[in-house]
Amino acid sequence: MINSEFVEIAVEAPLPRLLTYRLPQNLSSQVIIGSRVLVPLGPRKSKGVLVSEIKSSSALAKGREIKPIIEIIDEPALGDKMRLWLKWLAQYYLHPPGQVYSMAFSPGLEIRKRKGRKKAPTDLNLTKQDSHRPFTPNEDQQKAISKIGDATQNTKFQPFLLWGVTGSGKTEVYLQCIEKVVKSPKQALVLVPEISLTPQLVKRFVGRFGENVAVLHSHLTERERSDQWWSVVRGKKQILVGARSALFCPVENLGIIIVDEEHEASFKQENNLKYNARDSAIVRAQISSCPIVLGSATPSLESWQNSLSGKFQLLELKSRVENRPLPTIQVVDMRKHKPSKESTLPFWLSQSLFEELNAVLEKNEQAALFLNRRGFAQFTLCPSCGHTEQCAHCSVSLTVHKQNNKLLCHYCAFEKPMVVRCPSCKSDEMRTQGLGTQRIAEDLGNLFSSFSRPINIARADRDEINSRESLEKLLDDINNHTVDIIVGTQMIAKGHDFPNLTLVGAVMADLGLHFPDFRSSEKTFQLLTQVAGRAGRHEKAGKVVIQTYSPHHPAISCSANHDFRKFAGDELRERSELQYPPFGRMATLRFQGADFNKTEATSQNAMRRLEHLKKNLTEYSGVEFLGPCESALAKLKNKHRFQILMKVSSSKTLNTLLQHFMRDSDWVPSGVGLSVDVDPLYLL
Ligand code: ADP
Ligand code: ZN
Ligand code: ZN
Repeated sequence: MINSEFVEIAVEAPLPRLLTYRLPQNLSSQVIIGSRVLVPLGPRKSKGVLVSEIKSSSALAKGREIKPIIEIIDEPALGDKMRLWLKWLAQYYLHPPGQVYSMAFSPGLEIRKRKGRKKAPTDLNLTKQDSHRPFTPNEDQQKAISKIGDATQNTKFQPFLLWGVTGSGKTEVYLQCIEKVVKSPKQALVLVPEISLTPQLVKRFVGRFGENVAVLHSHLTERERSDQWWSVVRGKKQILVGARSALFCPVENLGIIIVDEEHEASFKQENNLKYNARDSAIVRAQISSCPIVLGSATPSLESWQNSLSGKFQLLELKSRVENRPLPTIQVVDMRKHKPSKESTLPFWLSQSLFEELNAVLEKNEQAALFLNRRGFAQFTLCPSCGHTEQCAHCSVSLTVHKQNNKLLCHYCAFEKPMVVRCPSCKSDEMRTQGLGTQRIAEDLGNLFSSFSRPINIARADRDEINSRESLEKLLDDINNHTVDIIVGTQMIAKGHDFPNLTLVGAVMADLGLHFPDFRSSEKTFQLLTQVAGRAGRHEKAGKVVIQTYSPHHPAISCSANHDFRKFAGDELRERSELQYPPFGRMATLRFQGADFNKTEATSQNAMRRLEHLKKNLTEYSGVEFLGPCESALAKLKNKHRFQILMKVSSSKTLNTLLQHFMRDSDWVPSGVGLSVDVDPLYLL
C-alpha cells in the first residue's frame, strides 16, 4: 500500500534517471515499493520497477503533465536488500537503472499462470545418488569448513578466499558448508563460470542435494529456466547453482554465496551491463549479511591482494586430497627447437613432447594438448630468440595492424612500423604468429598414422563443441577412452576430471603472454596451472610439458614450480609501480561509430572535456587519461572503435568523475555510441 500520489519508477529503457509517474488511487492498494509496473513511455508502454514514493509533490516541476501508471504486473516485488544491491550496480557501473532492475525478473513469468498444465520434464536429472556421500574432511578442509560455518551461523558478512591447488577438495568444502546453511534453514547461491562447460560439477551438487538444487545456465529452454528460477524465488529449492546471471535471482533468504574459480574472466559480462559477478557478489553478500567464499587454485591478484591486506580471510588447502602428487612439469625451450629438413615434426612440436605422446599412447593412456587461442595472430614473435615488440611506455606487447602495416599500443596509442628483422638477434624471421587446433589435429593424425593401432584425435574448441550435447558426447568419449588425444582450447581446461588422462601439453604457452594487456602474465599463469591440473588427478601420476619461447618468464617458471606465492608477489610489485589494478582502478570509455572521422573527433572532444574537468576540480588531480586511440579491435561490425583509458587511485574518485562526466551526453553526436566499462578485464 502506497499513499503518495507520485512515485519514481526505474523504467526499462536506456535512461540514466528514474522517471516520475502518478499512482492512480485504484492501484495504490495493490503496490508496494519494489513492485513491477507497466507505464507509458512516449508512444510505447514499458515495464519498470516502483523504486520510491515522492512524499511532497512540491518537489515536482509545476505545470508538467505527469502520466499515470497503467497497471501492476503480477510478480513478487523486489525486497529492500535486492533493491539496494541493484541500485548499487546501476551506480557503480553507470548503467541505466531500469535496465539493471529488469535483470532481477525471470524471463518466463507467464508459465506460472497457465494453471492445470503438466509440469514440463527437464533434462536436469535432479536425483540424489547414494554414491555422493560426504567425505571425511582432511585437516585443511575441516578448518575451512568450520571457519565458514561459524560465519554462516553468525549471519554476518565475511569474505573468504579459499585457495587450494587443483584437486585439493575445494568443492567438498563448498558442499559441506552448504549442508550447514540448508539446515539453518537458509538458501545458498553458487556461481560457477560457464556452467554448461562443467556438467561434472553440477552433478556433484545434485548428487549430494538432489531435488533441493536448482540450476541455471544458458543451454536451458526458457521454460526450464523459468521453472528453476521460480523454484528458488518461491523457496521450494534452497540451492541455486548457476553462471553469473544467477546472481540476479532474488533469493530472499540468502545464507551463503560461493564463487567457484573466482579468477575466471567469464564472471565479467562484456556487453550491456558490464558487471563483474564476483565483485558484485561481494556487495550482495555484504547487503545480505552473509559470508561469501571465493575459491580458486590461482586467485585473481585482486582477491589475493585483499587477502594480504586482511580484507578477505585466507583459507588454504595445501595439498591434493589423500596427498596425491601434483603433476611433474617440464618446460621445453622452443627457441632451441630447430627441426632439420629430414625431421617429420611440425614446427609447433618439440622432440620431448613427441616422445611423451608416444610413451602415453604405448601405455594406452590419454593425452590432451592445449592451445591458448587468445591473442591468435596478433603479435610479432621472433622464433630464434623469442623477442616480441613491446610498447616503449606501457610494458605490453604491440599489436599487429595488418591493414596499414604497423604495430600499435592500445594503452597509449604509441605506434611504429611493422618489424621484419628481429632487433634483438637480427634474424629475418620475425613473423606474426598463428596456429590453430585444426592444424595441430591434422599434424598429429599424420604423425601417428602408422602407430600400432588407430589413434583417435578429438578437437575441443568453440567450432567443434557448440552445444551441451556435443560437450557431453566429448566428455563421454574421453571417459570411455574412445579418444586418445584431445586437442583443445581453454574450454576444456577447467573443472573436468579424467582418470586416464596422464599427459598434458601446452603447445604455445607464450601465446597469451603477448596479448596487449597488463593482465596477460596473470592470465597465462592461471591457464597453465588449470591446464596442468587436468593431469593425473587419480591414481596414475601425471606429466605436463610446457612448450615456450620464454622459459624464464615468471608466468611460466612459477607455474612449472607450482609457486603461486612467488608469482603473485613479483607481479603485484610490478603492478604497484605502474599503479595498475589492484592498486589503482581503471575504466575505459569507448566510442563506436560507422563514420571514422566523426567517431575519432568525438573521442577527442571527450578527452578535452575530461581534461577540463580535471583542471577545474582538484579532487580529480590524480586521475590519468590515456588516449584517445583506436581500440585493438579497431573495427567491429562495421563500426570504428576508439577508446580512452582512465587510471585513478580510488574507485570512489573514479565513480564520481564518471558520474560527473556522463551527467549530460548531449555533446555526443548521433551515430556515435559511448559506453563505459568500469574495472575492465580486456582493453580491446
Ligand atoms: P577441487 O575442487 O579443489 O579441484 P575436489 O573437491 O574436486 O577438488 O576434490 C578432488 C577429488 O577428491 C574429488 O574426486 C573429490 O570427490 C575427492 N575428495 C574431496 N575431499 C576428499 C576427502 N576429504 N577425502 C577423499 N577424497 C576427497
Ligand atoms: Zn603504450
Ligand atoms: Zn630474435
